[in-house]
Amino acid sequence: MTGNDSPERIRISGLTYEQLRFWLSENMGMKPFRADQIFSWIHLRGVTAFQQMTNISGRIREKLETEALITTLRTDSTLSAEDGTIKYSFSLSDDNRIESVLIPEPPRLTACLSTQVGCRLGCTFCQTGKMGLIRNLTTDEIVSQLYQLRNTTETRISNVVFMGMGEPMDNFDNVSNALSIISDDRGICIGSRKITISTVGLPGGIEKLAGLPGQYGLAVSLHSAVEKTRRILVPASKALPLHKLKQDILEYNQEKGRRVTLEYCLIEDVNDSIEEAQALVEFSKNLECKINLLLYNSIEGANFRRPGSDIVEKFISYLYPRCQAVTLRRSRGADVAAACGQLGT
Ligand code: SF4
Repeated sequence: MTGNDSPERIRISGLTYEQLRFWLSENMGMKPFRADQIFSWIHLRGVTAFQQMTNISGRIREKLETEALITTLRTDSTLSAEDGTIKYSFSLSDDNRIESVLIPEPPRLTACLSTQVGCRLGCTFCQTGKMGLIRNLTTDEIVSQLYQLRNTTETRISNVVFMGMGEPMDNFDNVSNALSIISDDRGICIGSRKITISTVGLPGGIEKLAGLPGQYGLAVSLHSAVEKTRRILVPASKALPLHKLKQDILEYNQEKGRRVTLEYCLIEDVNDSIEEAQALVEFSKNLECKINLLLYNSIEGANFRRPGSDIVEKFISYLYPRCQAVTLRRSRGADVAAACGQLGT
C-alpha cells in the first residue's frame, strides 16, 4: 500500500489555494498564513512529504500526515524521441496508467498533460479514443504530472498544454481546479496565457472556459469544416454542430480577446481535398484564429494514411492567404508514439 491509497485522507495537492485555506481553517483550526506556507511547499518547492516542510512545527506536520496526503505518481517508463520529445508513462494509485509528454522547443519547454484515463469520445484517428473512458483524473493527479516532469529537467517548464489523454471539457471541474493551481503565483506560476486547453468542442464547454478568470489559450480540434466528414473523425461532434461550435469560438474571441487555434489533422482522401479547404476557409471567416495543420500519425487498427507532400502543398496554397495564419506543425515525438493522437496505454 502506498501513501496514495488512503481514501479517508484528503488529497491536499489537489486543493486550490482558496480550498486549502478553507480546509485548514475548518478542519485543522489553522491560521490563513499556514495555507501560504503549505501551498508554496507543495506547488512551488515540490515537496512530497510533510516532514520536509521545515518552517512548520513537528506537531502540525504530524497532524497533516494523518489527515492529508500529497499525491505522487510512479514513473513506469520514459521514452525519448530523436527530436528531444520525452514521453512518460505514469501509474496511478489504482494502477491505472496515463501518459504525459515533455516537448523542448527552445526557448520554450512545454508539458503536455492528460486529463482522463482513456476517453469516451472515440475520435477515429486517436489511440486514446480506442480505450474508452476508464475514469476522470482527479485534480491532484493532473497537477502531479506537471511536477513529475519538472523533477526531470533543469530547464523551467514554460508552457502547459492539455492535449494528452482525455477531453479536458469532459472533466471540467478537476481541470479548472488544476488551472487555478498551476497558474497561481504562489506555486509553479505558469501564466494563464502560457496554458492551452484543447477540446473537440462539447456543448457548454468553451463557454465554461470563457467564464474562468484566466486568459487561457483555446485550441479546437476541428479536423474538418464539413459536417459529414467531421462526424466520421469526431463522432461526438453530433452534439455540437459546426455553426454552434463557430458561435462558441466567436464568443471566446470576444470574451478573452485571444486568437483561437483550429487544429486540423490532414488525412489522405478524408479531409485533404480542395472542397475541404474551401469549407475550412469559410468556417474561419470572422474568427480570430490560427489554423494549425498537422499530418496524421499512424495508430494501430485505423485505416488512415498521411497525405503526400504535393496534396499538403495544394491544401496549404489554397488556405493561405485566404486565412490569416496557417502553420504546418512539425509532429513531435512520433517515433515513440508521443505525437498527437498516439497516446494510450
Ligand atoms: S482526440 Fe481527444 S477527444 Fe478525441 S478521442 Fe482522442 S483524447 Fe478523446
